[in-house]
Amino acid sequence: MLYSTIADTYEKIEATTKRLEMTDLLVDLLKNTPKEIIDKVVYLTQGKIYPDFVKLEIGVAERLAIKALAKASGIKESEIEEDLKKTGDLGETAQKFMAKKKQVTFFQQPLTVQKVYETLDKMAKASGSGAVDLKTALLAGLLADATPKEAKYIMRTVTGNLRLGIADMTVLDALAIAYGGGKEARELVERAYNISSDLGRVAKAVAEKGLRGVKKFAVLVGEPIRPMLAERLSSPEEILEKLGGKCIAEYKYDGERIQIHKKNGDVTLFSRRLEDISSQYPDAIELVKKHVKAKEAILEAECVAIDADTGEMRPFQELMHRRRKYGIEEAMEEYPVSLFMFDALYVDGKDLTLELYPIRREALVKAIEESERVKTAKYIITSNPKELEKFFLEAIENGCEGLVCKSMAEDSVYQAGARGWLWIKYKRDYKSEMTDTVDLVIVGAFHGRGKRAGTYGALLLAAYNPESDTFETVTKCGTGFTDEDLAKLPEMMKKHVISHKHPRVNSMIEADVWFEPVVVIEVLGAEITLSPIHTCAMNAIRQGSGLAIRFPRFTGNYRLDKAAEDATTISEIVEMYQKQLKKIVES
Ligand code: AMP
Repeated sequence: MLYSTIADTYEKIEATTKRLEMTDLLVDLLKNTPKEIIDKVVYLTQGKIYPDFVKLEIGVAERLAIKALAKASGIKESEIEEDLKKTGDLGETAQKFMAKKKQVTFFQQPLTVQKVYETLDKMAKASGSGAVDLKTALLAGLLADATPKEAKYIMRTVTGNLRLGIADMTVLDALAIAYGGGKEARELVERAYNISSDLGRVAKAVAEKGLRGVKKFAVLVGEPIRPMLAERLSSPEEILEKLGGKCIAEYKYDGERIQIHKKNGDVTLFSRRLEDISSQYPDAIELVKKHVKAKEAILEAECVAIDADTGEMRPFQELMHRRRKYGIEEAMEEYPVSLFMFDALYVDGKDLTLELYPIRREALVKAIEESERVKTAKYIITSNPKELEKFFLEAIENGCEGLVCKSMAEDSVYQAGARGWLWIKYKRDYKSEMTDTVDLVIVGAFHGRGKRAGTYGALLLAAYNPESDTFETVTKCGTGFTDEDLAKLPEMMKKHVISHKHPRVNSMIEADVWFEPVVVIEVLGAEITLSPIHTCAMNAIRQGSGLAIRFPRFTGNYRLDKAAEDATTISEIVEMYQKQLKKIVES
């Protein structure tokens, strides 16, 4: 097949503003394409040579492209640069200069699609010291054989500027019409795409085998499945009604969505946008190798930044430090992660995407071995709005964004690539940021594990209620303590240990160790939230809820100057909550 056929279609597509016309043009192109190379033609129309999840890009920098064009056209680089300033489009510039050159060319081999594709492929794979020279030579060679129009599109393709605006969905429409017997086939073709994320593979299957080909399409470990997305509602009543009166409500962890592909020893991680992000998370890969028992699996998880010492979740912003190319080892040390698994799409030979959620969840539980750092999403099954609300507040207090409520009904399949009502997220509309520190009383402690064995893992802290002369719990704090603090704390608290909760302490939480309310420390949190389990200012803002400090961190200040009765009062906390309450704007 001649590359000029593709270039002609590109030109017509560029000229149209109507989607239907675009689809017709694509249908013609696909029908005229030999089936063996239809995948390549499809990638090329998207300005690519592979599906997105393959970590290979043509990636030609402007400098290199100018050099190649100079070589192929015999025009000086400075002249090309001058022209580029005017056109702002290397494609157009290439077309112009190659047209000048063509007047003196006598013999030319017509370019085939295969030749173009193979050359682009070689360019993408070029690496090491000679890569730049090799890429320049390959591109110059291609341009030299191209007609001016072809040169325009080749140039745009290699520099990542093809931008024909052909959406994936338009290609699927065109495939359904060209090879599936009509638009009605679109659903089936789309499903194949949703479970493979590979338009080229779908094109080949439907072109070679018709609808039979796409019906037989199966998930493949290594090919990411397009993610299922959630709708949003803002009350437990509405959510339950929408989900048929009952649902599985899970913590909505605030991290990065990761699709885990495991095949024997190999693990690949894909982002929500289906990019291969394995290199960012060597620690997550180790966790998968160690704790996913299934030999082959595709699982979904939220990867969350944690406090290495306590296992507590950390704010989303901390995870963002992991989005980097260099210094991965240091970032891994400083911002360790946990995996919270929430779906199983394939396990040991079985495609689970069309199974109902309760069955997928069961498969998920069987596929992994839970540990400190690898867990399934915390959940409840409920039909009670009050219980749902309570779980929601608990989730937020523990560092989550809210809940994802999932259907467990007869149609609760994994809707790859779709945003539907089988998953409904429940997030907050308001949050109250904390700007000032507070002074809180240590009323209890929890034993540490791992690195913190023998000392405290976290402290239970309380604010003072002068009216009842009691101490009401407001947070559990395990972050911000130095090794020195940790060594010192048990010694320092020893004389205040008592065998039961102090009568002046009001707590719904059972601590491992109780103290007399004496020692005051300074703490800074990220937010104040409603809480179903902390007693601070219970019922003051909302019936049945207290207030809690989210993401607390010890500042390092022991307020030895303060008596317990001088600690921050519950009314001060109520005031802080109200003063900073702001509507959350969705990003
Ligand atoms: P949103 O990005 O606000 O549309 O919410 C959906 C996202 O929540 C998903 O893409 C996941 O990254 C994330 N998430 C966190 N926990 C869960 C969970 N238990 N189930 C499904 N998605 C979750």
